[in-house]
Amino acid sequence: LPSCKALAECLTLSLEKLNRESMLVDPEIARQITAKILHLIQTQEKTRKEIVSKGSSGMEVILATLEVFVCVSLSVPGGGRRIGVFVSKGGTGILLQLVISASKESPPSEEVMLQLHSVLAKVGQKDRKFGVKARLNGALNVTVNLLKQNLQNYKLLLPCLLVLQVCLPSAVNAVSLGKNGVVELMFKIIGPYSKKNTSLLKVSLDTLGALLKSKTNAQRAVVHVPVLLYIYQDWHRNDTRHRHILIRKGILSCLKNITNIKLGRKAFIDADGMRILYNTSTECLSVRTLDPLINTSSLIMRKCFPKNRLPLPTIKSVFHHQLLHVPAGGPVAQLYNQPLGMDDVVDESDNNEEAEAENDMENEVEEKDHHAGNDDIETDINKLRPKETHSRPFEELKIYERFFMELSEDFQKGVTATPAAPKSHRPIIVPTAQALPPKTPTAAPLQGECPHPAPVPALDLDTINITKDQDGCGDHTHSRTHPGAGLEQELVQGLERVSLDGPPILAGGVAARLGGEGEEMLAEDWAEEEESSEEGVLHVPDTALLLPLHDPDLYVEMVKSTSSVPQFSEVAYPDYFGHVAPTSREHILERVYGVQRTKIFQDIERLIHPNDILDKVVYDLDIQSCPVVDGGESLKFNSQFESGNLRKAVQVRKFEYDLVLNSDINSNHYHQWFYFEVSGMRVGAPYRFNIINCEKSNSQFNYGMQVLMYSVQEAISGRPRWVRTGTDICYYKNHFSRSSIAAGGQKGKSYYTMTFSMTFNHKDDVCYFAYHYPYTYSTLKMHLQKLEALRTPQTYLREDVLCETLGGNSCPLLTITAMPESTSNDQICQFRNRPLVFLSSRVHPGETNASWVMKGTLEFLMGSSPLAHSLREAYIFKIVPMLNPDGVVNGNHRCSLSGEDLNRQWQNPSPELHPTIYHTKSLLQYLAAIQRAPLVFCDYHGHSRKKNVFMYGCSLKETVWETNISATSCELHEDLGYRTLPKILSQMAPAFSLASCSFVVERSKEATARVVVWREIGVQRSYTMESTLCGCDQGKYKGLQIGTRELEEMGAQFCVALLRLKRLTSPLKLRNHAHLLDVESDLTETRCKGSRSDTHPLTRSLTHTHT
Ligand SMILES: [Zn+2]
Repeated sequence: LPSCKALAECLTLSLEKLNRESMLVDPEIARQITAKILHLIQTQEKTRKEIVSKGSSGMEVILATLEVFVCVSLSVPGGGRRIGVFVSKGGTGILLQLVISASKESPPSEEVMLQLHSVLAKVGQKDRKFGVKARLNGALNVTVNLLKQNLQNYKLLLPCLLVLQVCLPSAVNAVSLGKNGVVELMFKIIGPYSKKNTSLLKVSLDTLGALLKSKTNAQRAVVHVPVLLYIYQDWHRNDTRHRHILIRKGILSCLKNITNIKLGRKAFIDADGMRILYNTSTECLSVRTLDPLINTSSLIMRKCFPKNRLPLPTIKSVFHHQLLHVPAGGPVAQLYNQPLGMDDVVDESDNNEEAEAENDMENEVEEKDHHAGNDDIETDINKLRPKETHSRPFEELKIYERFFMELSEDFQKGVTATPAAPKSHRPIIVPTAQALPPKTPTAAPLQGECPHPAPVPALDLDTINITKDQDGCGDHTHSRTHPGAGLEQELVQGLERVSLDGPPILAGGVAARLGGEGEEMLAEDWAEEEESSEEGVLHVPDTALLLPLHDPDLYVEMVKSTSSVPQFSEVAYPDYFGHVAPTSREHILERVYGVQRTKIFQDIERLIHPNDILDKVVYDLDIQSCPVVDGGESLKFNSQFESGNLRKAVQVRKFEYDLVLNSDINSNHYHQWFYFEVSGMRVGAPYRFNIINCEKSNSQFNYGMQVLMYSVQEAISGRPRWVRTGTDICYYKNHFSRSSIAAGGQKGKSYYTMTFSMTFNHKDDVCYFAYHYPYTYSTLKMHLQKLEALRTPQTYLREDVLCETLGGNSCPLLTITAMPESTSNDQICQFRNRPLVFLSSRVHPGETNASWVMKGTLEFLMGSSPLAHSLREAYIFKIVPMLNPDGVVNGNHRCSLSGEDLNRQWQNPSPELHPTIYHTKSLLQYLAAIQRAPLVFCDYHGHSRKKNVFMYGCSLKETVWETNISATSCELHEDLGYRTLPKILSQMAPAFSLASCSFVVERSKEATARVVVWREIGVQRSYTMESTLCGCDQGKYKGLQIGTRELEEMGAQFCVALLRLKRLTSPLKLRNHAHLLDVESDLTETRCKGSRSDTHPLTRSLTHTHT
């Protein structure tokens, strides 16, 4: 019998042979051999000592076997589990213990250490607690000491660094390693370009990069920023064949992490980092494989670009509307109590908030709010149940009876007469509003008569009030903020404004047509302003046939009775001429590779070559007289007309302009909507426009949406239309930001740039740019007046003034239905008992598409088609086409003059601050009180971040399913009727997408029209209909940007869908419409099966960013 010793030797030899032979050796054989060795070691103390003793290779062989085992395991499918078993049996601990034991020998065996670390680096990847174990047992320190003592021993360094890397995800380890001098150590290993040891360098950089994610380590590394930049340049210069991109990327990653802290950014700027990265990146631009380097460089440069405040005296709106009633805790009081200089931006120190994904550069990361939505779902089931408490006493609601005359109309005075359209001349006196100072009634817009002027409130210290005498009815007070001084100047300017009594002044200085055909007149100051008087003759395109609801003269009349805070005295051409939808298709733009990067680099150039920058203010609403622009060198801008929004324009380069949008009135943000005029352009020059104070983190401008442009020359040539225009469009975070105070407590919020380029085709043109197809309040009034003219004796149309807005505009309410066929009891009864459909739109002024959809609805409803007639016979329509006239008039994006989002006020609207919402809700409360709650309620909106048209509705069940409440959802009773209308729409309206609909109730939406009407009024079919501002990615219009034709079609299709809904919901007719019945059964089936796991695709899309 061989001795135990001999057997052990024999076994280790065969193991060694096995290791040498192949990695793919059957682990079973290795297991058998090691099992025998184990047995020997356990039973024979002497053998154990011999195997692990110095000079014997036993230990090394066993470790090598283990390494083979780990490698093989990692390389075969399911092998990870085998290592998992090893880990779970305490393998990591044993290995770490071996490190400790080995470190106690002096000197430690290099070979054992090397093998131990090789194995540990691999095992560590499969052990989530590896870092903690290594630290606690002390092995981490051993590794660090080993590193320190073997800086020249590249063979040993590599596995040790790999072990450190595995330990680094633990933040505690990162900090403790930093304290232990490992950051410094790494800087000793990394160095300039060398063909040697590149894999070690790569691992060192990765380790360093991981260490620098800790702020304290980043602080330690700040002094090394110049070194890193030097090394980066060295590799950039020498790695001409781009074989070491990963090393170069590793250096940049270290810089990226250091510049997460303020000191790091400062060190980077001081070390000329901007210029170095800018230059190296520009040299890389032609090589596509170097994109990762350019992208990371660009990320670092953007982060380090000194933060700046917007070039404005204050970010508060340039216009201020003095509210009669300013609630103490409200947004306006808060805003105007802010200290001076609150906009000032400081580089917000060590925030990691900037740690954005690197792929935000060029990768199309579509919206990710799928998850964001989840936190927002209402989980309180009591808030999802009908609310019956706060309903108001009927006595209080009774005054709204007069808006529902059709419900009591008996037509005894003769059916042939059109219903007297009793326009309300007086605003409603609100019983609860005793505190309100006496409010003077204003003429209804279409009447043009003028009641008595109201007393002007006393002057505020901070503001100045200018009374505008408008056709004699001067009862509105307006004022303007004063960033600087110049009260008198402003007064003078305000008084000098041209009154609308004279000939209409069109923006752009071209005279408008007055009166009837052929009669052309010059605007008063035309001759003074422009040199050429030849062009005073203006040919108004004849659009009467194409645009039956448009009439330029009528438009000007409407403008005269529109009240604006800035007291606009000009009319923009597009609103005057009208818009005829183009016949050609406008495709969603393909994104050109590298555009965003190029634009960002051009921005960075401003810092690197400051002398190339003109920085010339060419338009500025904040100073009393906008700068006079010299002849031909700069563009001229203007935004002082209804719905206009542009606060400032700065020429930065010969053909490049920075544009700043104005905040919503009485607020300091919500910049998105723009509408302005440009003239003085050069034909063919490559203009670039940058809107520099956008706020949302992403935009459809990154996904193919273009801006809208209207050329007056084109209009005069017979093409009066808004067209999608602009190239090189993109949207990205810039270096402007606002202070945390100004941002309402949020850390200094960055602004975003929306940039587009374009060339102009006509000399002496006046062009307009807008975020979306404009639709002004005056346009609405014109359309309503024209619609009234379309009324036939069979149509019942009434227009009431629901109330006056804060700004003194009236909010129209329409009632549309069919006249009864006769005065017989039956007919009158049918007439009065028609179900109601309640529609509203344009609560958000920037969502002009909602108005175009509403126009489609109104035109269809007033139309002469048999469908329209059936629809009128089927329902009584109550429509508030513009819930926020003041916001629309004044060029706001989101708010009313109270500085608030009106679609967040439905729970408790104030009659003083939110009159349109208060009274619209009252109408609905009145209807509920008389048991006539509408069958359908729908509020039209626009969505800035999603494509297609879709609906948000409210469902208790679907909300509960989305939450993790294991509530007995099956026992919840809920009618599925809310799904019918969207389903019908998806079958007939090409732009409509059912997949984008959602019926989940979110907490953040609990005060919106949709949710309140559902919960408080009890309308099961209560919706928000969202129309894209961009275009469609499904259906007939797939790949096309949305236009007014498609939007109007959507509004018409909505009506047709209501007709189908009517047929489906009236039980008598069900049998005759078997095919439609499928819709319902189809829906019912889907829902019945609905468990949480197989919910309808509908519920999966949880993107409710925008109601
Ligand atoms: Zn909206």
